[in-house]
Amino acid sequence: MTVPDQIDMTGEGVRIAWDDGRTCTYPYRYLRLQCACAACVEEMTGRPLLNVSAVPDDIIAVEYLSVGKYALQFLWTDSHDSGIYPFTMLLRLAENDNAVVCESSD
Ligand SMILES: [Zn+2]
Repeated sequence: MTVPDQIDMTGEGVRIAWDDGRTCTYPYRYLRLQCACAACVEEMTGRPLLNVSAVPDDIIAVEYLSVGKYALQFLWTDSHDSGIYPFTMLLRLAENDNAVVCESSD
């Protein structure tokens, strides 16, 4: 399984150096909007509950926690901290979304 080697909060977003050699930057607000916790997405239906316009443009993540060996949890400046971001989800975003900028070290 691909896991983060290093995680940094940069001026642009959360920068994750994956152990497969890719370094990907996830813009803060973009990542906040991907939150899939029960307060942001209705569990049964997958319906979005998050009011996107209420998320500040200048939101950042001030802190992160490792959740087990499979996910990260971020503390956002809008006080939201219940979202868990599995590595598999973060890697999927890196592959499929142009908002996430990745560089390869090799
Ligand atoms: Zn959430």
